[in-house]
Amino acid sequence: MAGTLFTDVRILDCTGAEPFLGEVLVEAARIAVVVREPQRLSREGVDVIDGRGATLMPGLVESHAHLSIDDAAELVQIGMIPAEETTLIAVRNARLYLDCGITSCISAASAKPRTDVVIRNAINKGEIPGPRLLAASPWLTVTGGLGDMRSLNMPHMSSMAIMLDGPEEFRRTTRELIREGVDIIKLVISGDTFVPHAPSHTTVMSEAEVAAAAEVVHAHGKRMSAHCRSADSVKLAVKHGVKVIYHANFADEEAIDLLEANKGWVFVSPNIGFTATASYAGEKWFTEAQVLEFGFREELAGAAKGLKELKKRGIRILGGGDYGFFVTPHGENARDLDHLIRYCDFTPMEALLTMTKHGGAAMDLPNELGQIQPGFLADLLLVASNPLVDPKVLLDRSNLLAVMKNGQFHRRPA
Ligand SMILES: [Zn+2]
Repeated sequence: MAGTLFTDVRILDCTGAEPFLGEVLVEAARIAVVVREPQRLSREGVDVIDGRGATLMPGLVESHAHLSIDDAAELVQIGMIPAEETTLIAVRNARLYLDCGITSCISAASAKPRTDVVIRNAINKGEIPGPRLLAASPWLTVTGGLGDMRSLNMPHMSSMAIMLDGPEEFRRTTRELIREGVDIIKLVISGDTFVPHAPSHTTVMSEAEVAAAAEVVHAHGKRMSAHCRSADSVKLAVKHGVKVIYHANFADEEAIDLLEANKGWVFVSPNIGFTATASYAGEKWFTEAQVLEFGFREELAGAAKGLKELKKRGIRILGGGDYGFFVTPHGENARDLDHLIRYCDFTPMEALLTMTKHGGAAMDLPNELGQIQPGFLADLLLVASNPLVDPKVLLDRSNLLAVMKNGQFHRRPA
């Protein structure tokens, strides 16, 4: 067969335009031709997929993936799983993500230094099914930062964090991880709700430490992402060229101005799934007393306020985020599209673009990934109902009639 032709499909191209009826021809790994009704393409010698009016859209891009984490309830559980089992967890999740229509992942930390790297390589060689993957390092942070589970009493507890102190340690470990093949160095620059002595508004890494990692990363043409809840951590990240900034919930006016001034290359991935679910999904996850103690609703309200402002200023927001923890089980990543609509005043189209057009750009493929346009990579989903009416339809795998990555069906329509 010289290609795959989708006929009678509602094309949601994720350029931002309204969907239209038409046909899409895929040749090898790419989209070759897109036509609008009543135009028709030749059926000669191609594999014809009759879409029967279903929606054809780009595959989803998860901007904050943790394929090697197993829906952990606590960070310390991650540290207790050996590297061999961790690899199996990642193999299983890589397949699950494709099953769920997630055809690309920007990893936001690997549980062990080489897990993402070997999974990425195996996917690229066709040895295991999985999304396009940018492989990340474990969290790099400082003594006492998020993920440092040690205490003087129990000095060997671990999570998925590597604790480094001072620029030299950051420089050496960044070099080592790049040698081992990571695409992304993940820094944990701010504190977090779950760190009693370093809550979210604190900034735990020094500028010299961020700068040291950045120097090595930029010299090798690699990229960085960072956990940044505090205002100062956002500013440090932008200043030192961190491409994907996670959370940014306490970004102040100065931080937002800085993001706006750099919006040509920087992305914000708010990852509100955990907070939104913890705030409002009921006692299945957290008791009302815990919700109040951790301040989840204030955190969500703060994030929503900031996100509305970022969106207004044209800063690109990325969807998905931090799935692989008990409140955010793998496979429910598309739930965040609904959170953006429900809590942050996004339209369904704006929400969908966070996991398609903007995701493709954040994968460093702005003109090749995340949209249905001639020349773009053929990562496509055929969806039974219209995600623009309600993106939650993407959560039900029975709605995903077909999943294609790189022009190859992962799931063929029945
Ligand atoms: Zn994360």
